[in-house]
Amino acid sequence: MISAAGKFPTDNHGWAELLPARQVTPALTGSHRVPWVVVGAGLTGLACARRLAQLHPDQEILLLDARRVGAAASGRNSGFVVATSHFPGAVAADQVDNYRRVNRINQAGLELLSQQVLENNIDCQWRREGFYHTAAGDTALGEYKNFLRYLDTLEAEHQTLDRTELQERLGTDLYRAGVHIADGALVQPAALVRGLADSLPANVGLHEQSPVVGIDDGAPLTLRLATAEVKADRVILATNYEATSLGFLNSYIVGSTLAGSFTRVLSSAELEGLGSLGEWGAISLHSGGATLRLTQDHRLSIRNTAEYHGSVLLSDAQLAERQATHRAAFDKRFPQLARVPFEYAWSGVEGISRNGTNFFGRQRDNIYLAGGYNGSGVSRGTAFGTAIADYASGEISHTVSDCLASARAAWMPPRPLLDIAAFFIVRSRFKGVGLDR
Ligand SMILES: Cc1cc2nc3c(=O)[nH]c(=O)nc-3n(C[C@H](O)[C@H](O)[C@H](O)COP(=O)(O)OP(=O)(O)OC[C@H]3O[C@@H](n4cnc5c(N)ncnc54)[C@H](O)[C@@H]3O)c2cc1C
Repeated sequence: MISAAGKFPTDNHGWAELLPARQVTPALTGSHRVPWVVVGAGLTGLACARRLAQLHPDQEILLLDARRVGAAASGRNSGFVVATSHFPGAVAADQVDNYRRVNRINQAGLELLSQQVLENNIDCQWRREGFYHTAAGDTALGEYKNFLRYLDTLEAEHQTLDRTELQERLGTDLYRAGVHIADGALVQPAALVRGLADSLPANVGLHEQSPVVGIDDGAPLTLRLATAEVKADRVILATNYEATSLGFLNSYIVGSTLAGSFTRVLSSAELEGLGSLGEWGAISLHSGGATLRLTQDHRLSIRNTAEYHGSVLLSDAQLAERQATHRAAFDKRFPQLARVPFEYAWSGVEGISRNGTNFFGRQRDNIYLAGGYNGSGVSRGTAFGTAIADYASGEISHTVSDCLASARAAWMPPRPLLDIAAFFIVRSRFKGVGLDR
């Protein structure tokens, strides 16, 4: 018997705040007997349920989420749909196959999302024109050189830009060098997951605000919820770092809390002073640097804090504090917009492992799991979610093989030492976070 001791806190902040209200699907009640249950309706769970429905058109798939769709990391990320991952440090000859493997997974997820957005006409500001990787300080400039070598090794299409070219495009002279990678997309993340949830095949039953509090072994498995019980042949966990509350991945995954802010919508005069592009995204080549977007609806967003905060969101007071860090970094980049106020701030929690690996496979009889993308899970989570559906159904694909080849996760000590270890892991992953690079 596995029980979820924890709760599922949430708040109304995030990209969903910028969208109109949405009708939430009803919480699950009563007793049910189904072949498949997917727990977690983020990008991983949505992709998994969609693929299961394709593979088993005559079977019912229950998709359960503790919160509303879009309230977790999948609706709170920065909206970079990555094709080519950045691996910090010098190119390691013995890692080239691994880089290629991860990028094949990213590419598979990007293609799936592209197709799903197009086929279902999802209104989510999808724009597949790549994005920028930028360097302001000396550390990031060193990383820029590593990154160019890596892109050349992988023969990934890219264009280098100097300070003047970056300023002309992005409207800031902070960056001394940058590279534009041709593939990759930008998206409004909450609109994307809502659109995916609202276009699920008819044999998927989505129930929000339906936390699974325990899973009892047996054939069938029994899932316990506050007002329902489900008997299922197979269960797929797409619960990110909260797998631990159901007794899975303890000592292997923790939640890192990231936070960012949006300005109000910029006026045409403000946009004119901002460079030649109507929309763009830029990721810092410094591990603790800022992630910036000029969104299609003309807001600037900046995310530049990351911390271990007990795997929970920040309170309103803590968000207000972090916003001072966002403000300082924003004003340094865009002094011409120093008077433009932030309208929203948000935080989100993402699962990270000590060695940066992802989780994929069978956990125990008839229970499968995919997740833990260390801050890069929009394309990858979609690919992992699709592949875990294949794997649990006995199907073989290149993406299944690539996901199965993920490195084993490194162990972390149990609480209270876990909190100390997690603090240092997050600090070293986002070294120098909040600093202006
Ligand atoms: C601030 C921030 C910025 C980011 N930026 C980017 C980016 O730009 N690009 C990128 O690729 N990645 C980014 N990421 C990472 C990316 O968002 C995640 O890797 C990805 O969304 C994970 O998807 P998921 O479906 O596995 O998990 P989640 O989106 O966390 O979904 C898991 C779901 O499981 C549900 N759940 C958990 N336990 C239970 C239970 N017991 N019962 C029922 N439901 C349960 C939760 O409510 C949740 O909805 C960012 C993350 C954050 C936080």
